[in-house]
Amino acid sequence: MGPDACRRVTSSHRAFVFLPFALLGGVLTLVGATRTWTMNDGRRALAELAHVEGEYLFLRFGPVERRYPLNNFSEDDHEYVRNWSSKARCGACNQPLTTRSKKAGRKSYHLACFRCVACGKGFRGGDRFQIDQWGNLGHVEHIAQLFDCDSCGRLFPRKGASRNQVLSDNRVACKQCRDDAVFDLEELKSIRNETTVILKEVGISPPEGAIEWKLVSRRELDNEAKRIHVGGNLKGLTVTQLRRVTSKSETITSFSHKVYVLFGLPKSELRSVISHELMHVWLNERGVEAPADVIEGFCNLGSDQVLRQDPSRLAWILIGNMQTNPSPSYGAGYRKMMAHLQKTGWPRMLAEMKARAKKP
Ligand SMILES: [Zn+2]
Ligand SMILES: [Zn+2]
Ligand SMILES: [Zn+2]
Ligand SMILES: [Zn+2]
Repeated sequence: MGPDACRRVTSSHRAFVFLPFALLGGVLTLVGATRTWTMNDGRRALAELAHVEGEYLFLRFGPVERRYPLNNFSEDDHEYVRNWSSKARCGACNQPLTTRSKKAGRKSYHLACFRCVACGKGFRGGDRFQIDQWGNLGHVEHIAQLFDCDSCGRLFPRKGASRNQVLSDNRVACKQCRDDAVFDLEELKSIRNETTVILKEVGISPPEGAIEWKLVSRRELDNEAKRIHVGGNLKGLTVTQLRRVTSKSETITSFSHKVYVLFGLPKSELRSVISHELMHVWLNERGVEAPADVIEGFCNLGSDQVLRQDPSRLAWILIGNMQTNPSPSYGAGYRKMMAHLQKTGWPRMLAEMKARAKKP
């Protein structure tokens, strides 16, 4: 790798990191539930606690939410989190309930939160509603008036959506995902560089063969998939060509790959798709043959690895989607391979996959 390539990897890697924490002096002004968070190394930041999930915190900085390990924070912060977690929370916004709240099923909601994002009306007894993972609620009868983001599952009213939120192949993006969407091959390549570095850390060496990356529409992707008899709701596809040149003394094998990825994916999802496809490239270059649940489950371990280093809320939701995906290969396969990985660790897992290589 030349010095130029090195620099590219480093700078794109830096862009991946979100650093609101700083060593601050003076008095901090607090607004609402916003408070000062102090890391063990003394860095501080103003943020609102949005969620607690296991040993992670999600802090909200304006419109942006970021995930941090709770262990990174001071004893005061731990105390605040314990106190926060002990209170009853709104099923929509996840903030502590006040006296003005309403109970529906097993959850309670702030009155202000307990309303349909399509018609704006509060729900009444007997109303049926749907809720997304972001806390947006909609009347079941008003679902036709709502869009459902193809990336993050957010429900939002069709009425207020801008034209560019419906992509040219009719996929739909919420405002947040649309603002973060990638349509540019150079941007894709800088994300590929980041993911290549992360995968290399667990032993997935970078591809030997050249990869031609293509940002494509849903229809183009489905057409390519059909040609190799693959189906399903794909977001990426890897097609590997193997060339074998035999002379008297030796056989030389070489690979070339085409990787198709949907255009317009938000960066966290694009990271997930690119890492999944890079895992396919790794398997293909080693001639690994295995049932679909092993192959797709293994490739999703690459997505998992990259998403865990991505502190965005969307990355967390995408991991959750893999954990609950009912698909036998992408969901059950992932859970099976993850359970196996936790027993074996990466080096043995990779050795086992290589042992499945088809003999030439
Ligand atoms: Zn609420
Ligand atoms: Zn409604
Ligand atoms: Zn979205
Ligand atoms: Zn796959």
